[in-house]
Amino acid sequence: MRQIYLDHNATTPVRKEVLEAMMPYFSDECGNASSVHSKGQAARKAVEASREVVAHAIGTEPVDIIFTSGGTESDNCAIKGAAVANLAKGRHIITSEIEHLAVLESCKFAEEELGFEVTRLPVDKHGVVDLNNLKDSIRKDTVLISIMFANNETGTIQPIKEIGKIAKKNGVYFHTDAVQALGKESVDVEDLGVDLCSFSAHKLNGPKGVGALYIRKGVKILPYQTGGHHERRLRAGTLNVPGIVGFAKAVEIAAKDMKKTNKYFEKLTDKLLVGLKKELNEIYLNGHPEHRLSNTLNISFRYIEGESLILNFDMKGIFASTGSACTSGSLEPSHVLTAMGVPPDISQGSIRFSFGYENTEKDVEYCLAEIPPIVKRLREMSPLC
Ligand code: PLP
Repeated sequence: MRQIYLDHNATTPVRKEVLEAMMPYFSDECGNASSVHSKGQAARKAVEASREVVAHAIGTEPVDIIFTSGGTESDNCAIKGAAVANLAKGRHIITSEIEHLAVLESCKFAEEELGFEVTRLPVDKHGVVDLNNLKDSIRKDTVLISIMFANNETGTIQPIKEIGKIAKKNGVYFHTDAVQALGKESVDVEDLGVDLCSFSAHKLNGPKGVGALYIRKGVKILPYQTGGHHERRLRAGTLNVPGIVGFAKAVEIAAKDMKKTNKYFEKLTDKLLVGLKKELNEIYLNGHPEHRLSNTLNISFRYIEGESLILNFDMKGIFASTGSACTSGSLEPSHVLTAMGVPPDISQGSIRFSFGYENTEKDVEYCLAEIPPIVKRLREMSPLC
């Protein structure tokens, strides 16, 4: 049976070139990047070359990048680190209702353990925060704004540059979780005016368990993971050399191909949406119609539960998800769709199709042949119809 992986916002396959670049650092070049002997120095050289690639891709200098174990750690490091380091300034954080759990839980930690107040901004029906609302929420004691670049469930992109300007004007640090954006959108930290920015390799055809945090010079954060003197003492732990090398290779390829890939994704997602609409009624696009990641299509199929769809798709070799991989399995409606005002009877039937470079038009044609009969059959059995 054909297998069509359409869950790239959960994770992506490692590219062949990325794997090839990583391989020597598992064995022949196995040195610890902190060791002084030549094997250690070879590893250090690879790490620093990788740091340069990642820094260049986001318009900054290598010294502003620390490597981490991924997006979750980068978010924790940025939010908890900035909160603890700036207690003297105040105890107020602004975030949004649609953030990834790594951000929401870090803010909750600041609230419950450090005595912060957290303002969680609502979003409109497309999932976008209101800039006037943001301005009105800033207080004298606001330390940090944390608003994601692009949402993992819907792909909706926030007005990051405008938020950067507001943060700067008010002397507040601005963190953005750009985990889903890197490789799909231009992330230039100078242009965007962000102070802290989280990345993860496995969302752009790099390996799992490695990521980075951009920290603008002069931004005060305290390390939340302590130990050895790695990463300018901001993140202790032996560096994941193969992972870092693979991350840089993935970033390099994604940056080079970005324009072309986005056009390609647009073609595939448009074809799927138009084709499904032709065959089925009562289906709705969740997310911004234009300001959205080109690879992401979140669709609600009314009258059916997302979980039943996922299982039936799986039987036909189509792999999609009901939303965030981190919250799937819970039968709660998506906090993102709820914040966007999607009623429960529509949000419960939402499916996220997220494309990757290896998907083809033939894959979409297969989906268009297989999905409508599944939806029609499930609707016939649905007590909601
Ligand atoms: N932030 C966003 C927006 C994500 O989509 C994810 C992954 O699902 C994360 C953070 C967590 O990244 P990681 O899996 O590297 O910990």
